[in-house]
Amino acid sequence: MVGGLVVHEFGHQLLQDLRTTRGATAELQSRVSSVLGRPYDLSVPHGDTMRGLIQAELSMYGATNPTEMVAEAFTEYRLSSEPRALARAVGDVIDHYLEGPL
Ligand SMILES: [Zn+2]
Repeated sequence: MVGGLVVHEFGHQLLQDLRTTRGATAELQSRVSSVLGRPYDLSVPHGDTMRGLIQAELSMYGATNPTEMVAEAFTEYRLSSEPRALARAVGDVIDHYLEGPL
């Protein structure tokens, strides 16, 4: 889906913006950790357990690594009529810190 690809790539850009926004990375990690029920660190590659969790809560591609997780979660948040908890966690933080970029 072309629209999904554009939103996904935009999600990567937004993560770059979040990384330079004071407090945003900590908030993102906190929200994601609470959805997944275990500590989540954007700078740490996904281990097997984390991959399994993210695959179940989001998508197989999002489970690849933290940057793809954020891009996939943002895509679901924007394009789904009923985004799941992980997508909402990521989307809420992006909206809050970047003032609703779309
Ligand atoms: Zn990507």
